[in-house]
Amino acid sequence: PGIDASCAGCGVKLQTTDKELSGYIPASAAERVPAICQRCFRIKNYNDASTVTIDQDDFLRLLGGIASTDSLVVHIVDLFDFEGSVISGLQRFVGSNPVLLVVNKIDLLPKAVNYNRIRNWVQQQAKEQGLKTVDVVLCSAKRNIGFDRVVEAIEHFRGRRDVYVVGATNVGKSTLINRIIQDYSDLDAELTTSRYPGTTLDAVHIPLDDGKSIIDTPGIVYSHRMTELVPRSVLQAILPDKPIKPLVYQLNEGQTMFVGALARFDFVSGDRQSFTLYISNGLEVHRTKLERAEELYANHKGVLLSPPSVEELDELPAWTRHSLRIPRGGDYDVFVSGLGWMQVNGTSGALVDVYVPKGVKVLVRDSLM
Ligand code: GDP
Repeated sequence: PGIDASCAGCGVKLQTTDKELSGYIPASAAERVPAICQRCFRIKNYNDASTVTIDQDDFLRLLGGIASTDSLVVHIVDLFDFEGSVISGLQRFVGSNPVLLVVNKIDLLPKAVNYNRIRNWVQQQAKEQGLKTVDVVLCSAKRNIGFDRVVEAIEHFRGRRDVYVVGATNVGKSTLINRIIQDYSDLDAELTTSRYPGTTLDAVHIPLDDGKSIIDTPGIVYSHRMTELVPRSVLQAILPDKPIKPLVYQLNEGQTMFVGALARFDFVSGDRQSFTLYISNGLEVHRTKLERAEELYANHKGVLLSPPSVEELDELPAWTRHSLRIPRGGDYDVFVSGLGWMQVNGTSGALVDVYVPKGVKVLVRDSLM
C-alpha cells in the first residue's frame, strides 16, 4: 500500500514489514482493493464462513466423526435457552473425548445473581440431560465476561489436542470464536481459516501454534426453539440484548397473559400467587380474564398482540396447548424454548396452560433464578 494507506476495515495505517504490529498486511495482499489488514481479513473471512448451519441428521454424523479423533469438545449453550440449545446425548456421539460446557449470555441475567448457584443449576440440568462434562464455564461473549476463564479452561483441558466447538444456532458461537481469534495470544499472525470442501462437514479450521486446530462446526438447527420458527424481524424482538428485567404479576386463577401473539399463559387453577416473566424486555405483555382470552386473541392478534404482525403470523405454525401441573412447594419455571420462562414461586401448586406455536419445546423445570 501507499505510505498513507489505511485499512478499509478498522482504519489502522497499513504496513507490510512487521507481522507483530498492528496494520500488518502481507505484501502479496497489499494490492487488494479495498486493502484490509490481516486482523480484519481473518475476522471478515471467519464471519463469512461461520454462518453455516446443519440439520440434526448431518450433525449427528459430524459428531460421530469426532468420536474417532482425540480432541476436546467445547459445547456452547445459551443460558437463556438452556434446554433448547443443549445437545442431549452429545457424550454418546463424541466417544471418550472430554466435553467442556461453555454457558454463554450470562449478561442477560438480572444484575444481582449468584453465579455459583447458576453454575450448580447448570451442572444439575446437564446431568439430567445425560451430559457428562469435565467443567462448566459461564461467560458472556458479547460483554466480554468470563472470557479469560473460557480460554484458560480450553487450554487446560485440551492438552495438545484439537478443539471441536459445537453448538446450536444463535448461542453466540461466532461471537465467542471471534473473541478467541482476536484475543487468544497464541493465535498470532499465521492464522487463517479454511474448510473441508465438498462435505457436509463444512467446518472452519483455525490453526493453533502447536499444529493443532480449533474446529468450528456448523450450528445445529433445532426446530423446537422459537428462535428457529419466527421470521428474522421477530427474532430481533425475542432475543434479549440487555439484562432481563423480570416482570412480576400477581394473578388469580382464571387470568391469562399474552406475550405479543407469541405465547399465552393461562392460570387455570391454584391460589392467588406471583408469576414472574423472564423474556426480552421489548416484548409486550397483556393480561385478561381467561374467559375473554379467545376473543381478545381473535380480534387483536398481530396488532395489539404483537409481534408477530398479521403477515408474520401467517408464517408461523398454529398454536398448540400444553397443560402443565406445577408441583407444590419449591420454585419452578415454565420454560418456553427461545422465548424465555415464567417463574412460579408456588408453595401451593398450580395448573397452567401454555399456548405456543406448534413444535416449540415447553417444559417445567427447577427454577433458574
Ligand atoms: P451463533 O449462531 O451461535 O454463531 O451465534 P452468534 O454469535 O451469531 O450470536 C447470535 C445472537 O446472540 C446475536 O444476536 C448475538 O449478538 C447474540 N449474542 C452472542 N453472544 C452473546 C452474549 O454473550 N450475550 C448476549 N446478550 N447476546 C449474545
